Amino acid sequence: MKDRFGREISYLRLSVTELCNLRCRYCMPAEGICKRRHDEMLTQEEMLLALRVAAELGVRKLRVTGGEPLVKRNILGICEGAAQIPGIEEICLTTNGILLPTLAKPLRRAGVSRLNISLDTLDEKKYAWMTRVGALDTVLKGIEAALDAGFERVKLNAVLIGGWNDDEIRPLAALSVRWPVDVRFIELMPMAERAAFDQAAYIPCDRVIQALPVLEPVDGIDGVARMYRLPGAQGRIGLISPLSAPFCAGCNRLRLTADGRVKPCLHAPLEFPIKGMDAGGIRRQFLAACAAKPEGHGQLSHVHRSGANRSMNRIGG
Ligand code: SAM
Ligand code: SF4
Repeated sequence: MKDRFGREISYLRLSVTELCNLRCRYCMPAEGICKRRHDEMLTQEEMLLALRVAAELGVRKLRVTGGEPLVKRNILGICEGAAQIPGIEEICLTTNGILLPTLAKPLRRAGVSRLNISLDTLDEKKYAWMTRVGALDTVLKGIEAALDAGFERVKLNAVLIGGWNDDEIRPLAALSVRWPVDVRFIELMPMAERAAFDQAAYIPCDRVIQALPVLEPVDGIDGVARMYRLPGAQGRIGLISPLSAPFCAGCNRLRLTADGRVKPCLHAPLEFPIKGMDAGGIRRQFLAACAAKPEGHGQLSHVHRSGANRSMNRIGG
């Protein structure tokens, strides 16, 4: 599948649920979200049918996300089913890590090869404040469980927030020395849930380089991240800069939301519904989404907000 700008679409991000066991302030409202009617959401069979069609169209890499994918009751069945689809070469999953102590090994057995775990702070109180309900200790145990389970290249993702965790760049980066993990800093994006953040919260990833002058560039770009390494570290440091250095020109992804909408761009309101369709209909919708994929998301900032019509947990971050 090639879009109008010659980009080969080979990566699908599948959101398996909008629900979550945390309430991060940049992602979700405090009260959570209204649970949608069961029949509005894709079933496991519909997700796997859509994946089969996507694989026939050239999708090779799948990322399972949400909401929190590990609160989905049949998450192992979805991953097992995806791993059996011809053409799907890699299944990655993004999680807040809370349920990894029990689910890391079963996920590995189900065919998930790589995990991204979100961790924005190493301060217990700050973690509890940001997530509104979470305990830092559980995530740290989750990271160790992921390493024990033998996942390749575990990545830790930290959203960089000025005035909140920019004083923790060094200790967060040092996790790449303590563990064989890549630590990636991501610029805060101006999505729907942003009330707690003012202009000063939107800081560029270059602050990481300023805080860590010893960083050495390595390996160029990995996906959407510019890669660096701390001297002697086991893993690398990645900088993901959707605001200060957008990576749209190399964007190779489509998204499928838990309620069955194909989204060609995270920051555009465009959606192509597939709920209830057969393989032929789904194929047409994927191709339409690919054809409509915008060249880029334009300028994003605290003033120029995302054009997405949903909060992150409802898109699949
Ligand atoms: N619940 C899982 C998790 O937290 O990893 C998966 C879904 S979450 C929406 C995926 C990623 O999106 C997380 O790393 C989260 O930090 C990030 N995210 C959510 N809202 C964001 C925002 N406004 N700007 C930047 N990243 C955001
Ligand atoms: Fe849940 Fe992930 Fe959103 Fe936090 S960022 S509220 S863990 S979906």
